[in-house]
Amino acid sequence: MVDTLEGGCACGAVRYRLTSAPMFVHCCHCLDCQRQTGSAFVLNALIETDRITLLAGKPEPVPVPVPTDSKRPHDIYRCPKCQTAVWSDYGRRPALRFVRIGTLDDPTALKPDVHIYTRSKQPWVALPEDVPAFAEYYDMQKLWPAASLARRRAAVG
Ligand SMILES: [Zn+2]
Ligand SMILES: [Zn+2]
Repeated sequence: MVDTLEGGCACGAVRYRLTSAPMFVHCCHCLDCQRQTGSAFVLNALIETDRITLLAGKPEPVPVPVPTDSKRPHDIYRCPKCQTAVWSDYGRRPALRFVRIGTLDDPTALKPDVHIYTRSKQPWVALPEDVPAFAEYYDMQKLWPAASLARRRAAVG
């Protein structure tokens, strides 16, 4: 794991740097994520907003929040020019961001710590045996490293 990771949108107008490793990485197989990405799942690195340094451009939230299972608003932040989704705010928690791992310059730098909503997983997606997987959501207190839980508490209380 490298200390700093950089990424950006497809057109290059938005560039960012993560100043530390994320707290945790989700691979979400829910139907909302499949629809919103047009793909089989989303890969989200959960990190404090203040650990994201914008190097260029500024992602803007989409005009309307998109639905989630939790019923909390989900704001997707996209490059204003090419509309690549770079991160999300789930539940209007400005101190927390869910960074889309596919926008990293090295998208192999982070891998999922958990697979969630596998009840709607595409049947051809095979999950690794050494990564926890849950039909729906999971108990963060049981799964997250203590240091990550402390970081999250410090960020959102
Ligand atoms: Zn762009
Ligand atoms: Zn999802």
